[in-house]
Parts: sequence; C-alpha cells; structure tokens
Amino acid sequence: EAKKAGGAGYHFYASALTERSQQRVRLESDLRRALEAGELALHYQPLVDLRGGRLVGFEALLRWQHPRQGWIAPDTFIPLAEESGLIKPLGDWVLREAFAQACTWHEAGLEFGTIAVNVSPRQLDQDDLPALVRRLLQETGLPPGRVSLELTETAVMGQPERARSALDEIFAQGIELSIDDFGTGYSSLAYLKQLPFGKLKIDRSFVRDIPGDSNDVQITRAIVALGHSLGLRIVAEGVETEAQRDLLLELGCDVAQGYLFDRPVPADEAQQRWLSFAMEPCRRSECN
Ligand code: C2E
Ligand code: MG
Ligand code: MG
Ligand code: MG
Repeated sequence: EAKKAGGAGYHFYASALTERSQQRVRLESDLRRALEAGELALHYQPLVDLRGGRLVGFEALLRWQHPRQGWIAPDTFIPLAEESGLIKPLGDWVLREAFAQACTWHEAGLEFGTIAVNVSPRQLDQDDLPALVRRLLQETGLPPGRVSLELTETAVMGQPERARSALDEIFAQGIELSIDDFGTGYSSLAYLKQLPFGKLKIDRSFVRDIPGDSNDVQITRAIVALGHSLGLRIVAEGVETEAQRDLLLELGCDVAQGYLFDRPVPADEAQQRWLSFAMEPCRRSECN
C-alpha cells in the first residue's frame, strides 16, 4: 500500500518505523537507568479471603515513573526488559524490594499474610533464582511461608525440565508457588499437576463478564472444580463488582483480588488501609 502510493508514502512508512525503533532503544536505555535512578516502585494490591473478607496477602506490582513520559504500565516495559535481558537485574530488584517490605511489616508485627511476587519466564531460565531466593530469606530472616511466587502457565511450559527443577528447589525452601493468569495459555494439566503449585489464579478475562456471560460462568466453575480436585487454592483476579464476588463465593472460589477491594497502592498506603489497627471505619472510606 505504501509502495503503490509512491516514494513519499514509502518514505513516510520507513521513517515511522525508524522512529518507533528509536523510541524503543531510548526506552530501553531509560529503563536501564531507571533502576539506579529509583524510578521503579512496587505497589501492593490486597488479596482477600472470599468467605470471611479478611486480608490474606498482597501482590507486589511493578511501577515505573518515567521522568518525561510519566507512569508506564508493566505490560509495556516488562516485555521490553525480557527481550533486552534487563529482566535479570529488574527481577532481582523486585524480589529484593518485596522481601524487604515484607520483612518490615513482619518485624513491625503487622499481619500482612503473604507477599506475592511475579516472576518472568526469563528469570526461571537463570540458574540462580533458587539461590537468590534462599539468600534473600537468609538476609531478611523472613519465614518462607510469607512469600509466594507467581508464574504464568506459559512461563512454566516454555522450558519444562529446567522450570521443574527450579520450582522444586524453591518449593523445597517453603515458598508457595502460584499459577498466574490461568486459562490464557496452552498448558497441559497433566504437566501442571506434577509441579509444586499451591495456588491457581483465574485470569481476569474470565472474571470480567460474569455473572452475565454464561460461558464464562461455566468456565470459571470448571476451573474452580478442577483446581480444587488438584488440591489448589483458587484465586480470582480482577474482581470489580459485588455480583462477581457473590458468584465466585457461590462457585467455591477461595480468594479474590480486584478493584472491588482495592487498587494496587504504594506500601505506606497499603499499610494504612489494610494493616493499621488504629484506622477508624469512617476514615477508611475517605481514602477510596
Ligand atoms: P498480573 O500478575 O496478572 O497482575 C494483575 C494485574 O491486574 C495488575 O496489572 C493489576 O493492577 C490488575 N488488576 C487487579 N485488579 C484489577 C481489577 O479489578 N480490574 C482491572 N481492570 N485490573 C485489575 P498491572 O499492575 O498493570 O500488571 C500487569 C502485569 O504485569 C501483571 O499481571 C504481571 O504479569 C506483570 N507484572 C507486574 N509486576 C511485575 C513484576 O514485578 N515482575 C514481572 N515479571 N511481571 C510483573
Ligand atoms: Mg500476578
Ligand atoms: Mg494474574
Ligand atoms: Mg493477569
């Protein structure tokens, strides 16, 4: 199309491409600096027990405050970090930061449950992920039961053998493992059930249209039943409405996470809203 339109069109197309790849390169070098410049932060989103409504933990979610472009979502820069190899230092930083935060809350006697950290498939590739986790547990003195690692099914299916031994080693340290975004990949259940997962997180795309979409209701019902039959605790992500929550409860889902309860927020805010005993009920609603 661009070629048929003649030279000008073609040049426009080519230069647009160049501009895009230049933007990528720039973003990549920005990300490299962002780590040292302290532009990265973790936000924390609560997970609640569906039956009792109590806090059972937080998921740590990465945020990048870019000096010129403002807030950049992880879905944009994590793939970039994975392609460029930056995911290694970035992933290490996330683990350190999350462990440090958990340690702070733990030492303050605040009942935060567990901290869930997302791990990319490329991190699982590294030989030293189990060693890093072990070192962080030793450095912080955090009980391993206070941490869980989230991996997408695709991450695990990518390098089955390698993934399995890394996961086994991490599990043996007492750390809980969760399958993230379940239902979006092409994982083999026969394979997944051989891995030491304790939790299964139903992807947001199935939760979004329940209870209205009967297909999604049936899929969710099936995932809950299947997960339970494999001995997994089931978490629903992206719970935004009371109708969704009520149905998930009815389907036997164990834990929920979503805007209905809270958005991901900085650690001090998460602490104020969810871990402060002195919080008055009326002030809590002002925060929202
Ligand atoms: P995820 O692990 O599935 O995290 C859940 C995502 O759903 C988060 O998006 C969260 O903000 C969003 N979410 C939670 N509740 C709701 C809701 O009720 N409605 C809607 N619309 N969204 C909700 P976020 O923070 O943008 O992260 C996107 C993805 O980026 C994550 O998906 C995870 O795969 C990846 N990610 C985030 N932080 C890290 C990290 O530190 N390391 C790695 N490797 N990946 C990360
Ligand atoms: Mg996750
Ligand atoms: Mg998820
Ligand atoms: Mg997701």
